[in-house]
Amino acid sequence: MKISHIEHLGIAVKSIEEALPYYENVLGLKCYNIEEVADQKVKTAFLKVGEVKIELLEATSPDSTIAKYLENGGRGIHHIAFAIEDGVANALAECDEKGIRLIDSAPRKGAEGLQIAFLHPKSTCGILTELCEK
Ligand code: ZN
Repeated sequence: MKISHIEHLGIAVKSIEEALPYYENVLGLKCYNIEEVADQKVKTAFLKVGEVKIELLEATSPDSTIAKYLENGGRGIHHIAFAIEDGVANALAECDEKGIRLIDSAPRKGAEGLQIAFLHPKSTCGILTELCEK
């Protein structure tokens, strides 16, 4: 697979409303989009740092993976997302062939209209890994 850059860092927060003042007023970043991704049961807020985005993730339901992550003591960086130049479907096939555990066996629609798929942290040195394609 060909990774062009880090597309975004996903950061789990209890509340986007409570987290945004830190990112905007202290770090001086600007939130340019807030979007709910219904099938993932999350609300997302995006900020840009150069070409890389920060995706704040807030659970919209107690059974959201973000709610469970926070409940289990998780905080801060939740996943890293790579922009794949030659397609997520390609990358998934390659990962599967190399014995990587896939969370998504096919690309699906994520925030900002991207095609996304996740790799299981058990196969990725502990970091939940998202593959993205425009
Ligand atoms: Zn993400």
